[in-house]
Parts: sequence; structure tokens; C-alpha cells
Amino acid sequence: MCGIIGYVGNLSAKEEILNGLKILEYRGYDSAGICCFYKGELKLIKKKGSVDTLSQVCQGQLKDVHCGIGHTRWATHGDPSDKNAHPFLSENNSVAIVHNGIIENFESLKGNLQKQGVRFRSETDSEVIAQLLQKSKCESELKKVQELSNVLVGSYAIAILFKGLENQIFAIRKNSPLIVGKSPNGYYLSSDVNALIDKTTEYHIMDEDEIIWIDNNDCYAFDKNLQAKEIVYKKMDLDKQDISIGNFEHYMLKEIMQVPTAIKLTINECDSMVNPFTKLPKDMIKNLKHLTIVGCGTAFNAGMTAEHYAREREIIAECVYASEYRYRKFLKQDNEVCVFISQSGETADTIEALKIAKEHQIPTIVITNVATSTINKLADYIIPTKAGPEIAVASTKAYNAQITALYNLMDYIYCIKNKINCRTCILKDKLYDVVDKLENYKFDNIEELAQDIVNTERVFFIGRGVDYATSQEASLKLKEISNIHSESLYAGELKHGTLALIDENTIVIVIATQKNLFDKTMNSIYEIKARGAKVALVTQFNIDCEAVDMLIKIPTTDQMLMPEISIYPMQMLAYKTAVLKGLNPDKPRNLAKSVTVE
Ligand code: GLU
Repeated sequence: MCGIIGYVGNLSAKEEILNGLKILEYRGYDSAGICCFYKGELKLIKKKGSVDTLSQVCQGQLKDVHCGIGHTRWATHGDPSDKNAHPFLSENNSVAIVHNGIIENFESLKGNLQKQGVRFRSETDSEVIAQLLQKSKCESELKKVQELSNVLVGSYAIAILFKGLENQIFAIRKNSPLIVGKSPNGYYLSSDVNALIDKTTEYHIMDEDEIIWIDNNDCYAFDKNLQAKEIVYKKMDLDKQDISIGNFEHYMLKEIMQVPTAIKLTINECDSMVNPFTKLPKDMIKNLKHLTIVGCGTAFNAGMTAEHYAREREIIAECVYASEYRYRKFLKQDNEVCVFISQSGETADTIEALKIAKEHQIPTIVITNVATSTINKLADYIIPTKAGPEIAVASTKAYNAQITALYNLMDYIYCIKNKINCRTCILKDKLYDVVDKLENYKFDNIEELAQDIVNTERVFFIGRGVDYATSQEASLKLKEISNIHSESLYAGELKHGTLALIDENTIVIVIATQKNLFDKTMNSIYEIKARGAKVALVTQFNIDCEAVDMLIKIPTTDQMLMPEISIYPMQMLAYKTAVLKGLNPDKPRNLAKSVTVE
């Protein structure tokens, strides 16, 4: 989840690393640090807080350095503090490392090292890597790095400096991404291609267990047996515009405004000549009996929306949290297909769940936003979303892109099963209508509702059927960035317990877009109102009802596609609430983008 940057070249390593860390800060921001070769030593500077804080501390230091590594941390082991910030030096300062991921067996490794007298300076799992490298008896540094893969259990992307090997960086990865960037000014290493966009002309995504050795002039790759591999670089085809904040106050606001474009580009992808659905074997689809949809957080909520849509299309689908899928008793269904959803394609739980499905010979389809991601390499079939880079931690445009791709997938399955010709995307016109409506939507009453929420104690989101999936996502958004407790419920479940919490200090946001369920949901509204709570209703229907305190009127479209529209004001509501509370919506407390750890 953290950001790793390495640099070797003719520019200032300090500037290149600090600039890169600033771009990667959305991946972890509780502390940051840098280590460079300086006058024959490994000079380390690290600090709790932001990359800006680190930059201030670095002022006037690390002049004329040309090689180093840097890190922004998302703490897993040990609190965010100066001492737990990366990089870590080994006890005698001969090795420096930065690490992304979790070393699951660090306690036993640390215990062994402590028995040998090694003193540790931090509480992290990561420090053990530096100490192991210092203690290693292998004859070459390359072998010492290789040895790590036999010893470490867990997930890791690691960049390493060895004192005495001036201007050289070593790297190794497993279950956590790491990318080499090549430019006329030298080599970069990054845990995220976004940090390389305007720095490098070519990039190489390291393979699982690959070892990289960068020296002043070249970069070499090795497999886990230290056999040399050829590096095939890709041309840098990403645009800096995509990751810049533009004229927006926050990335999250920019990304909410990009929701219509994300849907449009995803429809175009589904409709293009390279239509990803046509790559799915027809027999697999024809015989499909059970569709399992797996994801975490927002991706799970997108999956739940699809589960409801699938039912309308007579497809039996079940949406499962990846973290549960991994550990529940595995029961293979007849003619099962699994769909895995991950914006980054690096979500550790989802990747591990996919590996389990593959072990059981279940065909796997992934829906991801990052073409170069780990999950894409592992899956049998890929359906790309085209939301563009998403920087804000709370996902918005990627969610809409995911449900767009899922709608198209369900329709494709339905068509194949029912022998309907579907060479083009049959939902295209309906989805373009959604895009049109969202582009013209004005977010009326959202600021006022946000104001009410700031002053309340509890918020509930309720809905029936597919509206429940939307209320889950709306509640998650609010929780993520505003630090306000909220919960979502099936509207019909309220009276079975949670109604006990409803009083005049509660706001209940009701999502009601399904005509056949509308009157039933109104019953819930009256029950809530009778207990004194404030009720906001999100709907496309015209209604005049005293029990509703605030109407969030949304545009109408095909009923089954309403989740694309009803979530839109809710994304803005979460954003406005966070801003009114004086919080930075892009960097919510305790969270980070791209959850690459379990
Ligand atoms: N597990 C390490 C730590 O807590 C690395 C966390 C990260 O990926 O930022 O320091």
C-alpha cells in the first residue's frame, strides 16, 4: 500500500525521490523517508507525517547525491512514528531497505536474529529484512537478495542499497508490485507506474519473484534461480494530465466529475472491436450455472449491484468478500465461473482469492482498471474498466466503471444463453442515456444534507433490492472520508432490531429507485419518521410526502441502471461532508489506496 521510489542517474536523487514520493503519497501517508549514498555512507532521513514534512527536513541536506531509495508508509506493524518509518538501516548501517507489504514470519526471524545479538531499532516487520541481509553469509549481494525469497513469508516489494556498492539498487518482489522505469537521465524504481509517467520513456513491470539489479549504466533482471532474463520494456503510454489535480480542490472532486466519462469510456471498450466479451469461450458462458463475484470494499458493492442485475437476467450469482472467500470452506459449484473485481488489480485479498479459484480449475474473469496489474497477469480473461487513474483513496469513478462493465457482462451472458445476437454492446444506448443524465445533474440539496450530517450522531442508509447495494456503497463512502458512523440496511430489516437506534439525532437516507418496491420502502419511511429521525429520500419518482424531510431528486433512466445514477449524489454527499468537517477527503484517516496487504 505504501509508495516506493528508487533512483540512479545523473539528476539529483533527492529531488527525484521526493517528487516521486509526493505523487505516491496517496498510497500511504503516515510517515516518509529517504536514504541515499552520501560521501561513502548510507545517509538516512525519515520522519513521521507527510512528504512535505520530509522535504522540509531534507532541506540543505543530501546535496549532489545520485542514487537512493524512498518510501511513504501505511503502517501495518508498529505505530506511525519516526523510528518505524522506512527506510531501515541494518545494525551496522551497511544495508538500507524500503519495504511494501507484510513479512508474516517476522517474529520468528526477528527472534533468531535477536538471539544472535542483533539489536532492532523499530517495531516493524520490515526491519528484519535489513538485518537478514547484513547477517547473510552469501558471497555476493545478488545472492543475498535471492536468499530473501527462501526466507521471507508474506508479501513484499523491496528496494535495497548496500554500502560500498555506490549507485546501485537491488530489488525483489512477491505479491506486491514494483516497476522499473528507464529514461535518458537514469533508472527509476517505483511501486506505482503513476510516479514514472513524466519521468521515463519506458517501463518494465517486475515479474513475481524477479530480482532487479540497477547500476549506474544498466539494469539487469534475474529469475528466482538467478538465471539472467531479458527485460522487455513497454513504451510509456500514460498521460500526465490523468494524474494531475487540474483546477480541482481535491482529487476526489475531480474523480466524481469524471464519473460520466468513466462510464462512457468503459461502454466504448465493451463496444469496441476488441470487445473483451468475445474472448470468453462461448461454451463456458452457455453452460454457466453459477457466477461467483468476488471483491473488497467498493468493488464488492459493485459486485452486489451486479448480483441483483444478474437475477433479473436469470443468472444465479453470488457476491462474496475476497477476505471471506479465501478462508471459507470451499465448495465448487457445477459449471462455475468466478469474476474478480479490483480497481488497482493489486488488492491482496482479491489476488489470493483468484489463486484459490484457479487451484480448483474454475475459469476466472477479472474486472480491473489497471491494464498492467498483477491480477491481469493471473486471470484467464480480462474485462478492463476505463476509469483512468484514480488517486483519491475513496473510489468513485471506478465504482461506476465497474458496474458498467458488470452490466455488460451480465447482458452478454444472458444473450449467449438465450441465443440472442450480441456482437455489439446492447446496453449502449441505455448507458449513454445515463451518461447524459449524469453530465447534466446539479446535485441539488446535497450541500444542505451534508450540513445536517455534520451535526448529527448517526446516519443510516437503507434500500430494498438493488438499492441496498447502493446504500452500502453510499454508507462506505461517508464512513471512509468523514469519520462519521454510518450503517446501511435492507429497508425491511430496520424493524428487526436497528429501529432501536432511531431517534431525533439520527438521519436516515433512503434510496428508492425500484418502482415495484417503492410503496414498501415508504412504509419504512413512516416507521422511521414516527421515531423522530430526519429522513432524506433519494429517488427519481415525484413524491409529496410529509414524512420526507428532504428530497434528493435524481434523473430517471432504465430502472435496472438506476444504481449508476443514485450513487452519484451520495458520492458528492460524502465529499461535501468531509470538506465541511475540515477533513482532507483525499487522505482519509487510517486508509490508503490499493490494499496490497492482507
Ligand atoms: N509492513 C510494513 C510496515 O508496517 C510496510 C507497510 C507499508 O507497506 O507501507 O512498516
